[in-house]
Amino acid sequence: MVPFAPISTRFAPSPTGGLHLGHAYAAWIAHDRARAAGGRFLVRMEDIDQTRCRPAFDAAIIEDLAWLGIMSDGPVRRQSAHFDDYRAALARLEALGVLYPCFCTRSEIAQAVGAPQGPAGPLYPGTCRHLTAAARGRRLAGGQDHALRLDIAGARRIVGPALCWHDEKAGRQEARPEELGDVVLARKETPASYHLAVTVDDALQGITLVTRGVDLFPATHVHRLLQALLDLPVPDYAHHGLVMGEDGIRLAKRDRALTLAAMRAAGESPADLRRRLGLAPG
Ligand code: GLU
Repeated sequence: MVPFAPISTRFAPSPTGGLHLGHAYAAWIAHDRARAAGGRFLVRMEDIDQTRCRPAFDAAIIEDLAWLGIMSDGPVRRQSAHFDDYRAALARLEALGVLYPCFCTRSEIAQAVGAPQGPAGPLYPGTCRHLTAAARGRRLAGGQDHALRLDIAGARRIVGPALCWHDEKAGRQEARPEELGDVVLARKETPASYHLAVTVDDALQGITLVTRGVDLFPATHVHRLLQALLDLPVPDYAHHGLVMGEDGIRLAKRDRALTLAAMRAAGESPADLRRRLGLAPG
């Protein structure tokens, strides 16, 4: 007999605004999967970027979720309370020699000529990867602002070519972290990037099935590489479609009419929303 393996899923919004219909879809997918399997569902606030996140939005999200009938099975993890976990992961990556400081400004990167294209625009051309140790040392000693980037090629040399992950719909994937280039893992104002924090947290929270929008498919290749470097377990993935607005563009915070708060005020019920999203009655 196959032993029963309960699953753990999560919904991980950033408290930069209230939730909209697209978030409700993502939250229900994670929640429904856990409930159907008798597993565990957790909520995580991805509030690393303290310049954009607000406690008021955090509270609004919890209220939105409660209205949807969704509650975390354990304490809500707030990333801003766990910087030590991300610092420890960075220190491990540093010890492996796969991080380098990048002094380029955003506009220098945007204007870089001949930068390779990635799925979401130009990739970092690797300018600072080629700095000499002396030049690097001088800039660091001078206190120049910098980000920490992951040297993808160097990381590849450590973990080797055979790196796979599994998506429920798309099947077995050969990890292609090169697609996103040398991603940023930390900045001065945000000591852990999305990529680092999400990978560490999914492991620390024991998440076994990551459900999230298909727009994050390329990111999963990077997360798989980080899991290999940091010796973390590899969850299963289920990337789902995105909810589109009437203009055919994915929903965003600008679509005020489709925020859950607006729909609630307009008298819609969670059952109406589920119907609209094509989800079975909850
Ligand atoms: N905080 C991310 C978002 O709001 C979630 C990413 C994830 O589920 O991995 O899009």
